[in-house]
Order: sequence, then structure tokens, then C-alpha cells
Amino acid sequence: MKAMVLRELGAPLRLETVPMPKIGPNDVLLRVRATGVGLTVVIMTAVPGRVTSFPRIPGHEVAGEVAEIGAEVTHARVGDRVACHFYLTCKVCRFCRSGRETLCTAFRGYVGMACDGGYAEYMAIPAANVTPIPAGVSDLDAAIAADAIATPYHACREEARIGPGDSVLIVGAGGGVGIHGVQMAKLCGGWVLAADITDEKLGAARDCGADALIDGRRGDLATQVQALTDGRGVDAAIDFVASRETLEGSVKSLARAGRLVIIGSRPKAVFGVEASFTVDPAQMLYNMLEIHGSRYVTLAELQQTLELLRQRRIRSVVTRTFPLEGAEEAHELLRKNALVGRAALLQEG
Ligand SMILES: [Zn+2]
Repeated sequence: MKAMVLRELGAPLRLETVPMPKIGPNDVLLRVRATGVGLTVVIMTAVPGRVTSFPRIPGHEVAGEVAEIGAEVTHARVGDRVACHFYLTCKVCRFCRSGRETLCTAFRGYVGMACDGGYAEYMAIPAANVTPIPAGVSDLDAAIAADAIATPYHACREEARIGPGDSVLIVGAGGGVGIHGVQMAKLCGGWVLAADITDEKLGAARDCGADALIDGRRGDLATQVQALTDGRGVDAAIDFVASRETLEGSVKSLARAGRLVIIGSRPKAVFGVEASFTVDPAQMLYNMLEIHGSRYVTLAELQQTLELLRQRRIRSVVTRTFPLEGAEEAHELLRKNALVGRAALLQEG
């Protein structure tokens, strides 16, 4: 089969012909239909420690059709259209058993990093990681749901706890995950201030329903937030960029009892600068602020996200699609911050 292969850390992906993946008794083999392309993949191709061995086929945001099932698999059938949860968790530790599986203590890594992923014609994955795509939801939308739409679902609902009447700052609102964060925050009842740094990205956030726009090029984030909220600040800030600047600006933008949710990751190895930030403990204490990290979703939350797509309550924002062999070109655009919304690899037929 054809696949885009990462031979070593930092190397460009190359189109290769590789053997078909073999499945174990509890796995399924997928004919890959669509794979999302985002910073998560670009980061893992450059940061040591994420990819566990080489050569590796990346791609964690996947929708496909079941082509073969292992002998023990009972809940998936050949021909099913499925989306993939990309954390390889143990299912039995206390976090897995308490509905917080992204904190699994026996975590085996990520699809596309600890095992081969969806930048290929076929992919093997544990059957426990797949869930059916509802009728009426396209493969492309379901692939994007697997990370870019699902991740804001957990962040908005469980970490930021957005409810009707809350004001919400979304930092990085025009990016692949942030653009769905704008929509999700609106769905939860939030009044959304969308911050980004290009006209295209701000325009995309506006098109997705943002109530106010903040242009990061026009100066301090917190000052603009305070001006738009009559000095009150926001009830929640969700930072999809998570640089030192945006994190400090987000904390300063919080109202009393405000929640900062960190989703973005900017490793120094990729971005060249340290992302550590400082907070004023007195401000934290007197205003009873909260800082949350938000890691991905449970499989149940992924199913809810797919249901939102079926209900047409949210729409996937994919602005560019590429053939399989276009993966490296897509990565290059991401490195240059030149993509609005999500990009994806599409394999039809
Ligand atoms: Zn576990």
C-alpha cells in the first residue's frame, strides 16, 4: 500500500510503498478515507520522544471504513464507517475506569506516534478505539471531529464550564481547533470574543459566529478584552495558542471566578521560545481564578461530537484538502501559520 513515511525525526515525509498492516485479534483494519492535518502532527515529527520508533506513518485524526476485523472483535463489522479515538489507553486503570481516560496511567501513546496512523491507504487500530460515524455525516467531517471538533467539546463543557450568559475569550480562534472552539463556545451559550492575528483567521472566526473580534496585532490582549467587556473581563479564556504572551494575557483577561483553559502546546523544539508563564498568586487568590489543562476527550465525548455534526449544530471548517502525497505540503503551510481552519488528506474511491 501507499503511505507517507517519516524515516527520522525532522525528516520530510516521503511517499513509499509499504507492506499492509497486520491486525491482532482485538484490532480492526481500516481503509482510510480522510485524515486531518494539524499542528499536533507537525510537532510530533520534530519533537523528540513522541514518535516511539522509526520509520513511522503519522496521522491521528482519521475516518475510514472497516476492511477486516480481528477474531475477538464483536462491536465492529466489515463495511462500517468509523472515526478513531487516538489515545492508546489501558481501559482498566483508575482514570480509564472513572471516565478520565486521557489521564491513563498505563498510557501506550498516540495513534500515528506509538503506532502507525492514517497517512496511508490502510491502518490497523484497536477495535476499542473506533466508533461508528452517524448516517449523514461525511468521512471528512468525521475525521476532523476526531480531534479538531471533539477537543473543544471537552474544553468548553467540562473545563471552561461555559453556560448561557458567560463571556468567553478564544485565543487562536481561526486555527484548526480554535475555529471549532468558537462554535462550541457559542453552542454552550457563550458570548464569544475571538482573538487571532491575521485578517483571514479573524474573518473565519466571524463567519463561525464570533460576537467580537480581537486583532492581536493591535496591541495587548487583556486591554482589548477589558474594553469589550466594560472592564469586567471574561468568565472563561480558552487558549489554543498557549505562548507565554497569550497565556499571561488570558489570565489578565479573566473576570472574578474566571477559568483559563490551556489547550495549545508550543514546545521550544518547534517554536524556538519558552512558553512558561507567570501568574500573580494574589490575583489568583482574591479573584478565585482557575487554571485548567484540557487533554482531548473520552470516546463517549467523541460520540457526542459526532452527534452534534449529525444534528447540524456545528460544522467542520476544512479549507484545504490534499491527496495523500500532499501531506508534506500541508505541513509546510502549517509551519508558516498559513492555513485557516483545518486541512485534511482525502482518499476517495
Ligand atoms: Zn488507563
